[in-house]
Amino acid sequence: MKLRYVFVFICLLILLLLIACEKQGIDEKPEESDGGLKGIEPEFNVLVIGWDGVQRDHFYECYNQELSECPDGLPNLKELSNNNIFNMTITNGATDTKAGWAQILTGLNAEKTGVYDNNYFQAIPEGYSIFEKLENYFDIVTFFIVGKGNHIGLFCEGEQSQSKKNKIITEDFPWCNAKKAIDFSQNALGENENVGTLALEKIEEYKDNKFFGFIHFEDPDHTGHEYGENSEEYTEQIVDDDHWLGQIIDKLKELGIYENTYIYVITDHGFDEGKSGHSNAPYTFFATNDPNIVRSGDRKDLTPTILKKYGLELDVDGYPLDAELQFECISEGHAYIDYNNALQCCEGLSLINLDYYYEPIDKCAAPSGGIGDNSGQCTYCGDGICNAPEQKCNCPEDCEAN
Ligand SMILES: [Zn+2]
Repeated sequence: MKLRYVFVFICLLILLLLIACEKQGIDEKPEESDGGLKGIEPEFNVLVIGWDGVQRDHFYECYNQELSECPDGLPNLKELSNNNIFNMTITNGATDTKAGWAQILTGLNAEKTGVYDNNYFQAIPEGYSIFEKLENYFDIVTFFIVGKGNHIGLFCEGEQSQSKKNKIITEDFPWCNAKKAIDFSQNALGENENVGTLALEKIEEYKDNKFFGFIHFEDPDHTGHEYGENSEEYTEQIVDDDHWLGQIIDKLKELGIYENTYIYVITDHGFDEGKSGHSNAPYTFFATNDPNIVRSGDRKDLTPTILKKYGLELDVDGYPLDAELQFECISEGHAYIDYNNALQCCEGLSLINLDYYYEPIDKCAAPSGGIGDNSGQCTYCGDGICNAPEQKCNCPEDCEAN
């Protein structure tokens, strides 16, 4: 009898040792392959809140209480930002939804993501999105709660759509690769209320984790396409976005995590002045409760700002917004963004405008929606060579012949 107990005891011991070894094997598996810090929890949360299609000039009219639909301005945004609004300008990729969110959430030029505009796109290559970068390095919950459908599409070719009569998807949408890394993703939620409600639920669900979330409201863009940029309806939807911002802030405060959560409110593109589209609408805004932000910037500057906050490598095309640009002047082929004390084009370069060339229909569109903004591209326009970002609209002297 005694021997049997000893035998069982020894067996158990060996088993425990084996389990311990196995566990150690897992825990101590070197992560050198990606140089990652996997397993480390960040010290803060980040929410990127998208208000789709807010034109800068219209935004300020509402914010500054100049419109009857905005008697109180945008009180939640004002409180969030401590009344400090920044300008955001688009200098690469189309001023539309696909190109916009692809750029905002990768920090990359359209030439790298392959998402040029709503019609000319591909899946953002694997590993390029901020979601994948964060998931790769941290023990973090990521979520993606989105009002729009295909323009912020998650489907990959060959998948089956449940909403559209089980149709088989025939192409990759921009977020096809990223969704594999994102913990919770849902798009095509439609109106603001659906997005806001789900966002509040998920914030509550993840309150004990550290999270990075993208919450996208399809308005005022959706309404702007229907009623036009100068409509009361367009304004009312900006006010509704602000209402949901307030709900999200209240939820974070109720859960005791607001002080630990950086919120960036940003928009993917503006709106053509007085029109119901945004063929060239590069003038927008952004606002945040991140006290370190010091300057206005480019649409591609948000991701590097957030990567820097997390201590990750800035292998992207934009620059962090928490510091002035770290060079003397803007060099050839780069954009000059017009704001107080902004760097100018380097000597010998000319500043050309943000006229957009839409190649498939060979048409030019002048930018609108940001009166007085002088942003543009620094190039050798006039040297007889047509180098990107020069094209036949912004530098006809070099590019007309092409
Ligand atoms: Zn949009």
